[in-house]
Amino acid sequence: MVLEKSENLEMQGIAASPGIAIGRAMLADRARVEVSETNISPDDVAGEVKRFLDAIENVKEDLHLIKSLIEAEKGGEHLYVLDTHLLILEDSMLTTETVARIESGHINAEGSLKRTLVKFREFFDGIEDEYFRERVGDVEIVGERILRRMVGISQEPLQYVDGKVIVVAHDLSPADVLQIDKGKVIGFVTDLGGKTSHTSILARALGIPAVVGLDGATFSIKTGDHLVIDGSTGSAVVNPDNTVFREHLARKQYYDYCDRELAKLKDLPAETLDGHLITLKGNLEFVEEVDSLHEQGGQGVGLYRTEMLFLNRAELPDENEQFEAYRLMLNKVAPFPVSIRTLDVGGDKFVSGLNLEDELNPALGLRAIRLSLRNPETFRPQLRAILRASAYGEARIFFPMISGVGEIRAVKRILQEIRSELDAEGVTYDKNLKIGIMIEIPSAVLTADLLAQEVDFFSVGTNDLIQYSLAIDRTNEHLSHLYEPLHPAILRSLKMVVDAAHAAGIEACICGEMAGDPVYLPILLGLGFDELSMSPPSILRVKQILRRCSLSEAEKLVLNTLEFSTAKEVESFLKSEIAAHFSDSFD
Ligand code: PEP
Ligand code: MG
Repeated sequence: MVLEKSENLEMQGIAASPGIAIGRAMLADRARVEVSETNISPDDVAGEVKRFLDAIENVKEDLHLIKSLIEAEKGGEHLYVLDTHLLILEDSMLTTETVARIESGHINAEGSLKRTLVKFREFFDGIEDEYFRERVGDVEIVGERILRRMVGISQEPLQYVDGKVIVVAHDLSPADVLQIDKGKVIGFVTDLGGKTSHTSILARALGIPAVVGLDGATFSIKTGDHLVIDGSTGSAVVNPDNTVFREHLARKQYYDYCDRELAKLKDLPAETLDGHLITLKGNLEFVEEVDSLHEQGGQGVGLYRTEMLFLNRAELPDENEQFEAYRLMLNKVAPFPVSIRTLDVGGDKFVSGLNLEDELNPALGLRAIRLSLRNPETFRPQLRAILRASAYGEARIFFPMISGVGEIRAVKRILQEIRSELDAEGVTYDKNLKIGIMIEIPSAVLTADLLAQEVDFFSVGTNDLIQYSLAIDRTNEHLSHLYEPLHPAILRSLKMVVDAAHAAGIEACICGEMAGDPVYLPILLGLGFDELSMSPPSILRVKQILRRCSLSEAEKLVLNTLEFSTAKEVESFLKSEIAAHFSDSFD
């Protein structure tokens, strides 16, 4: 959205990849191609269908070529996104809908494809979950490539730029980002896009500052303009005056300094002043994020969300495809362990291959482990794949939304059957594979002592635990003031879970958002959590605070905290404690 006029023009978009970039703008030709829809005669139908199908084949060849060029130059690391795009080209819906429109609607190939893309967009716009909604970006990028192929407009890769620039484009594809030469492109800005698009995910994985969804960027910014972008706040300033320029330069220098200071902690132990060690791990969705985990000194993956393998495609991934994905993840994270969480979809998280029905209360509906238990044809291949992969690294398996002992026993029975199957087939797997559960439902908290007898570890999902304990829809903005991690009910629940785990001699881990917020660290430490798992960029910041805490002080703090009646009281107490002990650590 444009806030001011041209000089010193401030614009606000979506923070896609953190970091400040200061440099000259370079507009890249990534505008959507204009195509017109025309009616065709029945005689032209076959020709139009052929033109469309040929364009798909050509785009496949283009993508294979781009893949091999990137692989030769930079290695095969982030190429999975291009595989996703190749899969979209195989998507029968894209092809059959478009061909049907050419054949029965007598509309030209470009017009028919455009209409199919609009249908995709309408469908995805109705999805509540941000990540799932943004998958449409990949379909549109692929659609754009097909359209360009049909009208004969090529797309120059971004590597042919002069000097150091911030690329400004209507939209960028993941292939564009993969081809970026970091020595030349120091950041990018796009009109379109969202935080969880593959373009943004890759920008984060590669450490390129980026602002996306900056409506009107290509309209307001010209090649050669001075540009400052802040990928942490989503802001951009075009042709900043001296004061604004100096302000941003100082912030950039300060951030760079903080990053350098934090980086020094990477190989130091995650240890308190009084010598208590805690394991700090990362929550990951893609193998591309493993580099960032290692850069942050993460000691493994505490939550590998496997949902992402199931999205964006008409058919579900089969056992072998999953096995390869899990094995790759284990391989890249080694020598550290990976806790693989089984499919956590349903409700508003839509997977096309699962034919889920609409529900009145999706958050309380057929989701997560309930869905897996109901669909053995999906669950069993996933379990087989995880068990098979466990022979190639240190895997753990855990299950989302367990509500009580009956459910975990049902899961363990199936797991045992699968083990027997694999034994009979002579397939190797880790016989000591650790089994855990997510604690995110109040009934699991209240029966934590019983559940602890059944498994090797607990992992508390505070995002859902808060939602279900306080009856707050975590996506409803009108209730956000009631979403209180420091609510006495939550603190008591956390304590019950840790105490039950330790009484049974199993590990208490936490992988909800609370784990990655340094403000909560003294409480989680004092409660006795053994492992905190968070988004990788938070690890060093949490480690920094941890190394300034002592366990004994944190335990006292928790005892005091548990005396308060409201979240507000806890919060103001915590703030005063933080001000007294860590005033320099929380800026
Ligand atoms: C949680 O609920 O805290 C959690 C980590 O799971 P997700 O955010 O994937 O639901
Ligand atoms: Mg959850």
